[in-house]
Amino acid sequence: MSTLSGKHRRLHAKAAPKRTQGAVRAPLVLLVLVGALALGFILFQSSPSLRKAAVLEMAEIAGDVAEGYMVDSRPVEVGQIGDVVYQATGIANTQLIPTSEGYVVFDTGLSIQGAKQKRLLEEAAGSGPITHIILSHSHQDHVGGVSFWLEEESEIVAHREFAEEQRYLKELEPYFWTRNRRLFPWMPEEPPSGGPLEFGKVVPTITVSGEESLAFEEGGMRFEVIPTPGAEGADNLCLWLPDQKILLSGDFFGPIFPQFPNIFTMRGEKTRKPIEYIRSLDRLIALEPEIVIPSHLEPVYGREEIKAAMTRMRDAVQYVHDSTVEGMNAGKTVHKLMEEIQLPPELELSQVHGRVSWGVKSIWEYYATWFHHDSTTELYPVPVRGLYADLVELAGPDALLARGERYLTAGDAVEALHFSEIVLEGQPGSRPGLELRRDALAELLERARATHQNAFELGWLDSRLDETRAALGGGES
Ligand SMILES: [Zn+2]
Repeated sequence: MSTLSGKHRRLHAKAAPKRTQGAVRAPLVLLVLVGALALGFILFQSSPSLRKAAVLEMAEIAGDVAEGYMVDSRPVEVGQIGDVVYQATGIANTQLIPTSEGYVVFDTGLSIQGAKQKRLLEEAAGSGPITHIILSHSHQDHVGGVSFWLEEESEIVAHREFAEEQRYLKELEPYFWTRNRRLFPWMPEEPPSGGPLEFGKVVPTITVSGEESLAFEEGGMRFEVIPTPGAEGADNLCLWLPDQKILLSGDFFGPIFPQFPNIFTMRGEKTRKPIEYIRSLDRLIALEPEIVIPSHLEPVYGREEIKAAMTRMRDAVQYVHDSTVEGMNAGKTVHKLMEEIQLPPELELSQVHGRVSWGVKSIWEYYATWFHHDSTTELYPVPVRGLYADLVELAGPDALLARGERYLTAGDAVEALHFSEIVLEGQPGSRPGLELRRDALAELLERARATHQNAFELGWLDSRLDETRAALGGGES
């Protein structure tokens, strides 16, 4: 829906150039807190202002307790960036821009930190009418505090795709929740339902999309909301302050800058579109920002450095995209290309967040979907894994384990992992099978730590290793 009030106008894009975590378990405590919040929400329904005050207070208490369980939590602290932007840090940051006519909020943090972020921001920047809540995208860690900030007159500005992204993330919430908890074990066992912490209730009042941006002026300050899909989903947008040359980038660049982007997410989500991302990057490069304020971690300063970093990101994604397409046309398999395609030295980027080989696989499947024409069996619901038990029966577990060990000794940990999985499928709980799996996973973990240090790969391997050690019994290390 697009309900533009008088002072908003749409701009056409300037012609673009052609071309955390780890943790201790606290699910039960969190569940109780979430329940208490929901109860508070209901109890105070009769009086909106009392209800809001009570919810904010409880949300802050719940957040403080929850944070105590989170090893990698980032505390909520308020500071000022570039004179006009106030920022509350957190697992995700919230930015507040005061003007003489009202306040503009950009992103609202995770629900357990949103209330504290709001209180500290208002203490630092003062309070007044919240005219705009601008959301960089629909992820929980950016929309968690919307209900805390929302006032009757506030506009909620989001990308036109926001509603669709929020819909599918909500419909698949149990599926994604289970996967997320493997990577972020401090999360509660169940997603919050009812009350202000429940995901999926945000209804934008102004949307942006395509080549248009939304420009408005408030208290003498100019704002421009720019649709930038492709990086962290189809519903990404950024906020540009043209007079200050400040770009509030949400998750467009990911948690560190610069880096190879997350075209694929391990928790699951729709594949991101590489060419859309390149176009969005072109649009931001043309702005020549002097400060970039992301919604995670720290701001980045310096026009030349920012431009060089953004250009490198753009060129790296283009390189991986073009190499994948070329390999597909040349008849190479996806696995061959995952192995072959590497960034050239001049485009080298951190792969802490997104990995190049996963980008290759994502680009392939984005264009060609899941039937790779490698085998007729891909068309039918019988995976090769379904025959592992037969292989164990025919070859015997000892021969398979010996081959797995040989691979591991030669440094081929993935091959060794395959053999452990064959044995464990035929003989669930087999101790030598589990030991081979443990050793192969440990080798992969060590390699991941020594190379890209990709946070998701480390989290996944850690979690599988923990499971394997637990299956082997206590005392394993
Ligand atoms: Zn985020």
